Amino acid sequence: MPYKLLREVILHLKKKSLCPLCQARYDNEHIFVLGSNMNPETNAAYGLFVAVCPRCDSESVMMVEAADSHHATDLDSLSIQSQHSAGPAVTVNEVLDMHNFLKSWKGDVSELFNKQRS
Ligand SMILES: [Zn+2]
Repeated sequence: MPYKLLREVILHLKKKSLCPLCQARYDNEHIFVLGSNMNPETNAAYGLFVAVCPRCDSESVMMVEAADSHHATDLDSLSIQSQHSAGPAVTVNEVLDMHNFLKSWKGDVSELFNKQRS
């Protein structure tokens, strides 16, 4: 994911995301980028973020998809899916797994989430 887009996404997350447990807002230092990837066929960009709540310390994993990275200045095209992990759910190994997985991931993010649910 291009740096400029990454920055826009973080701004977007700050504006739109609240802690699912206590509704606190995130700031720059609470949002971490785990990894990002591009699909060369569709020009879609994906990013995986973790937000740590400044108030209650809960962690949320957020997957962001920018449908077409060439038009990504239009943030309306961003689709953000978040998964909340309560408690100490995200371990370093899990983060690394996700990171490695994202590196090789070429598919559709929503498909990814649907697979996890079933
Ligand atoms: Zn919170």
